[in-house]
Amino acid sequence: MTYAETAAGLRMIAISSGKGGVGKSTVTANIAVALADAGFSVGVVDADIYGPSIPGMLGIASGKPAMSPDQKVIPAKAHGVKVISMAMLSDDDAPAILRGPMVTKYLQMFVRQVEWGTLDVLLLDLPPGTGDIQLTLAQAFPLSGAVVVSTPQDVSLKIARRGLRMMEQVSVPILGVIENMSGFTCPSCGTVTNIFHQGGGEAIARDLDVPFLGKVPLDPNVVDCSDEGQPLVRAASGSPAAESYRRIASALVQTEDDTAGIATPFAWSLVEDSGQPAPGLVATDSPAERLVALDHDAAGLILGWADGTEQRLADRDLRLACQCAQCRDEMTSARLLDPESVPLDLQLTRIWSVGNYALGMAFSDGHATGIYTFKALSTMTGTELEDV
Ligand code: ADP
Repeated sequence: MTYAETAAGLRMIAISSGKGGVGKSTVTANIAVALADAGFSVGVVDADIYGPSIPGMLGIASGKPAMSPDQKVIPAKAHGVKVISMAMLSDDDAPAILRGPMVTKYLQMFVRQVEWGTLDVLLLDLPPGTGDIQLTLAQAFPLSGAVVVSTPQDVSLKIARRGLRMMEQVSVPILGVIENMSGFTCPSCGTVTNIFHQGGGEAIARDLDVPFLGKVPLDPNVVDCSDEGQPLVRAASGSPAAESYRRIASALVQTEDDTAGIATPFAWSLVEDSGQPAPGLVATDSPAERLVALDHDAAGLILGWADGTEQRLADRDLRLACQCAQCRDEMTSARLLDPESVPLDLQLTRIWSVGNYALGMAFSDGHATGIYTFKALSTMTGTELEDV
């Protein structure tokens, strides 16, 4: 099974945070296990290059992952969750060399060359921060949406706000905000003490008009469980924190199902002419970037936008416009693809939905790694059909 084939039905969710230490990886690990317990097929990509901690939290022994006979990486599996981590990719002292533009290339390769099988949900534990690495990662993956984890402190919330804006900038839908270490529940009497301010995450979510997914209380057990490789949702499944993780996990899945206008995932094979593009794809508030119709004929791809315009883009022009890490330098955006190397009779072979903001495309030269955001497509110059 190729990545392109799995991508259509897959929810790929980035878990991000403005700064380190807010509990992003702990939240990712526990939500992953909670979703697996709820019957979902779940994978985790631990992309936190600064401190890949997911394997430790799930009790996965360190060491290089096994390879399949066709040279694909076999993910580790623990507590019902498949895991690939930067920690497995490199020796302990090697990540320093990866902390550059190579990171996205490595991760893209890593995700694509992994024997995931069929997944319902793939969680991507992003490195903390709101800089270039996070931005490139968010754009490099066909994300269905992103979650921002924050503690209730003012500083942390301010940075979380920046993270939310960053995701909006690249048109990645925000699935919601999670407030971690929200209050301390006394283990003997059950009284909740608010160590930090309370409700900041909720306020931010309200402010920015994104869902609030829930709070996880401060619980010393979380630390012990993480250290022992036992996620809290399993080790102390009746605790208030475990209940929170489960509630958040189900809210996360619910958010995607219930959000009005989310694209119905589709994969359309132009070769076999199977699978129909879903009508009514919705991306942004701007009608000029909201895709409502999709068709293809000998002259190329026909895109219909909510503002009534129709656009025709030739297959080869789409291939040349590919923004993936193989075709564009991710720092300078300079084109790496030599147009001469792209056959004149190149054709689109397959189109699929990526989240609710982009299309994935495969071409007859075998290239299938580009993500075409509605925003970028709408600004591509093609033939406006009305003018013909
Ligand atoms: P990040 O991924 O944001 O850097 P981690 O998930 O590594 O953060 O968590 C940082 C530390 O906080 C870890 O020691 C973890 O066990 C602890 N921690 C996370 N969530 C909680 C919680 N709800 N209660 C208590 N400790 C927590």
